Amino acid sequence: MSKKKLGLNTICTHVGEIKDEQFKGAISPIYLSTSYEFDNVDVKRYPRYFNTPNQEYLAKKIAALEHTETAMIFGSGMAAISHMFLAFLQQGDHIVVQNTLYGGTSNFIREEFPKYGIEFSFTDGYAVSDFEAAIQPNTKLIHIETPSNPLLTVTDIKGVADLAKSKRIVTTIDNTFASPVNQNPIDFGIDIVMHSATKYLGGHSDILAGAVASTQEHMDRIWNVSKNLGGSLSDFTVWMLERSMKTLALRVKAQTKNAKKLAKFLDKHDDVAKVYYPGLKSHPEHKLAKTQMHDFGAMLSFELNEGIDAMAFQKQLELIKSSMSLAGVESTMLLPSETSHALLTPEQRAAVGISDQLIRFSVGIETLKDLKQDIEQAITKTKVASFA
Ligand code: PLP
Repeated sequence: MSKKKLGLNTICTHVGEIKDEQFKGAISPIYLSTSYEFDNVDVKRYPRYFNTPNQEYLAKKIAALEHTETAMIFGSGMAAISHMFLAFLQQGDHIVVQNTLYGGTSNFIREEFPKYGIEFSFTDGYAVSDFEAAIQPNTKLIHIETPSNPLLTVTDIKGVADLAKSKRIVTTIDNTFASPVNQNPIDFGIDIVMHSATKYLGGHSDILAGAVASTQEHMDRIWNVSKNLGGSLSDFTVWMLERSMKTLALRVKAQTKNAKKLAKFLDKHDDVAKVYYPGLKSHPEHKLAKTQMHDFGAMLSFELNEGIDAMAFQKQLELIKSSMSLAGVESTMLLPSETSHALLTPEQRAAVGISDQLIRFSVGIETLKDLKQDIEQAITKTKVASFA
């Protein structure tokens, strides 16, 4: 059966299964060996070489979901990002990244690249022309993140990929927020896709992992660096990730359905000043999002009206948890200014539009009416408390 013809849920459930030949169990066995007998010294298995049975087989599922030849699993999303960047950049090279970037990636670039003599530019915006303006003769990589964290800005994937190709620059994308269920950047010409698998791929807030998907040629370069840096994932967690990914499409579609309704609910709410969600017609890149996303995802952000303190509101929530991470089946909220973007200076935050009132909402699979009720009661209690 050709993998291309398989439906999304079939890929999630079956691609990359390891057949249990010995006992005929329904699920993949787990191989925890760190030592494997070899017939040929060229193909020795070792966890840090990213080639244990569980790693190799799960990579097939991720590659099938992202429409690539191959994939690799890492110990975290940051391990995936850092190994991927360092595979394509060396002293004297230059990378262009967008200014609306995940805080951890931004810190990695600002803090580590100067030590390696790697130059970088953050764009002024996230339009293709902003990327073009930042390109230098030594630019080797362009990295995008769309929809972005936490403002859900949408970058033109094909536009950036075409621009980079015309200048022989490699492109990478952080596809964490959309997940492969809602976006497949390879189909628009991007070279390498990465994920914080801690998020939707894991989906239950109990796994720290990362993944990269690309052609074999690009992956060979990433592997060469990665085996030296050593950021591979334990096979037990690889196995947990495979189990979680069986329900990836079911989860993400349910979360996206809730998010679309909640975005509209918040948009119409008298106490909400602004909602950031690519599925809203008022979102500046709604039309672009429609052309490059299968659906609009389950992340949104919003600002409460001035006078309704965002931190106090969060404390009043009873069902929705205040939590650092995102994309689990449970709904969570956080204030980027206090958490994910706390390491940026207030000036850096202001420059990318992150106000102290901004709340990031990772929508879960709970019953919609319960989520609406929780938001409503938290707003009412915050207002009563502030006027008391
Ligand atoms: N990319 C995005 C968009 C993220 O939100 C995160 C973490 O929050 C990362 C990358 C880093 O992933 P990890 O925490 O798995 O290292």
